[in-house]
Parts: sequence; C-alpha cells; structure tokens
Amino acid sequence: MTVHFLPWDKNYNLSEKANRLYDAATTFDCIEAGDLVAVKLHVGELGNPNYIQPFFVHEITRQIKARGGKPFLTDSNTYYMAQRHNAVDHMQTALINGFNLAPFIVADGLKSENFTLIKTKGILNEIEVSGAIIQADAMIVISHCKGHELSGFGAAIKNLSMGCTPQAGKLRQHRTIGLEITTSKCIGCGKCKDACAFHLPNIIDGKASITSKDCMRCPVCISVCPTKALHYTNKPNLSKALASAAYGILSTFKPKKVSYINFAKDISEGCDCLPNPGSNIFQDIGIFASDSAVSIDAAFLKSINYKTFNEASGVDCMTQVQEAATLGIAGEIEPKIETLN
Ligand code: SF4
Ligand code: SF4
Repeated sequence: MTVHFLPWDKNYNLSEKANRLYDAATTFDCIEAGDLVAVKLHVGELGNPNYIQPFFVHEITRQIKARGGKPFLTDSNTYYMAQRHNAVDHMQTALINGFNLAPFIVADGLKSENFTLIKTKGILNEIEVSGAIIQADAMIVISHCKGHELSGFGAAIKNLSMGCTPQAGKLRQHRTIGLEITTSKCIGCGKCKDACAFHLPNIIDGKASITSKDCMRCPVCISVCPTKALHYTNKPNLSKALASAAYGILSTFKPKKVSYINFAKDISEGCDCLPNPGSNIFQDIGIFASDSAVSIDAAFLKSINYKTFNEASGVDCMTQVQEAATLGIAGEIEPKIETLN
C-alpha cells in the first residue's frame, strides 16, 4: 500500500497541492453518493495551537460533498477534565478554533453515553465504539502527528483507537498500564492528590495509595511527585491496546470505506491534548495520505528520527504499528512512499 507524501514547502499554495495529494492517493474513493462521512479530527485543545488548520479541513469536506457524500466533523469526548470533556464544551472549542463550516457532531453524545461495545482482538477483548462512528458509512481520519508520553507517538492509529471511543473506551485502554508507588520513597506530601483532576490518591498514614478504578494512568501525578515515588509498569501495553482498539473500530466499517491523512507539522514531544503544547522537536515535514493506518503511521516514523520519541517516552513507537499489522490491519511497516512533485 503506497503512501503519498506532500513535503511542507511554503513556496506553494498548500491547499491546492494537498488536493493533488488526495487525488494521487485516491483519498475520496471510499465515498459513495449519499454516504454519511465522518471526518475524524481533533479540534484542538484551547490554548494549544498545534492542530490542523481549519482551511485544510474545509477543503476536505468540500471534496466529500463533490462526490455526493454528507460530511460531518467528529471527535469523542475526553476522559480528562479540560475543554473537550463534554459535548457542550467540545462544540464550543470546535467553534472557537475555527471549525464552523461543516456540522461538528460529538461522536459519543453529551456526557459520553452514546456507544456500542464490540468484540476485538489483541490485548483487549472488547472496545466501546462511539455512536456516530459506528453509524457512519465512511470515514476520513485526519491526524496531527506528534509525540506522546505513554505511547511514543500519536497519529492515525491513535486517532482511531482513542479518538473513536468514548470515555469508557479510553479508560479501558489506559488501564492496560499499571501505576505503582514505591512506598519507601513516598513522604506523604499530597502533591499527587492536589494535582490529580479526580483527587484519587489517598494519603493514609503518611503514604500515598491509588486503588481507584477511575485512575486513567495519566502522567500528572508522576510528574509532580518530588521523590519519584510513582512509576508506570507495563507501559508498552498501551501501544498494544491502541492497536487492539483500532482493529475493533475498523471492523465496524465495510472494506475500503476508511481513508487517512496525516499532517506532520508542529510536531511536539508531548501530546496535543494538553493546553500547553511544549516545544516542537522536529521541523515541519509535510502531509501524508493513504488508505492504511499502518502504512501512513509507518511512513511518518520513517520520515523522522523517531528514536527521539522513544527516548522521551520510554516506549518504542513501532510497537503500536507492528501490533496493528500483526492483528491484521492492512498495511506495511516498510511502506513505499511516493513524493508529490
Ligand atoms: S507526590 Fe509522591 S511523595 Fe508526595 S504523597 Fe504523592 S507519591 Fe508520595
Ligand atoms: S494517574 Fe495519577 S493523576 Fe492520573 S488519574 Fe491516576 S491518580 Fe490521578
């Protein structure tokens, strides 16, 4: 499966060039007249400029309409407490960040109640799929490529797995990682409890304890602990969970009904779900298009020195890509890349 690539060259009209890229990659061949087409994206976290510029998305929706499809922008609510945690805040964020020329439908409903539990394979047995995703006839997955503290990087596979699941599905994936406290190092300061959005750590007899099933294994308490008493266990499990969830989500679509566009631009070391983006660690690379989540993410990794992400996160970026291929998601971990002139 060839991945088509447009270098990020500001000497050209990038919107026009992107249309040529989509033509070369036959991005919109997955759409038939009358299809309800999910345009799966991340509308940006308020305060973080690292998201895909709306003019690219508007052009994609125009192309979908030109083929007789009915596009809607969509994403699922976040588990963590920020400005995309419920549908009201999420839709407001979409408007503020400029996504206002096509309907934005929060895929899992007002409070993340709209989903279907389906079987999958791999490290997870089941995964919750957001309602608007499972009802869509076709999907264009538009992903912003960046690093990630828990999975090395995030792009198309992560956009499927985390982005197409409700809060329960996100929690299911995150909890494949363990979180342990080295009691001898804990001084009982309570900084972890203060920083946790859910105030989950209990301080008992001067020592922290985290037993709640609501703990999503985010990096917050680990990052504030002054004595490094908290640490993850089985961290690569999340990468396997991303692949497992992605497999389940793709199984809800008929063959050849999903296409992918990856924007490798504003590439930060950490995830773009945080309001503070951090510094970029790679120059802007370009835009990839493919009909395979495996191939398009592998192509992005091939275009950078992804070991920088590995070192920052302690996770091999290739784990999620290889696991997705092993589970049977079509694609190649050494894809052929054709660059647009
Ligand atoms: S922040 Fe660290 S040292 Fe302080 S209570 Fe939590 S685990 Fe213990
Ligand atoms: S990992 Fe720590 S900060 Fe995150 S939800 Fe669990 S207890 Fe709270």
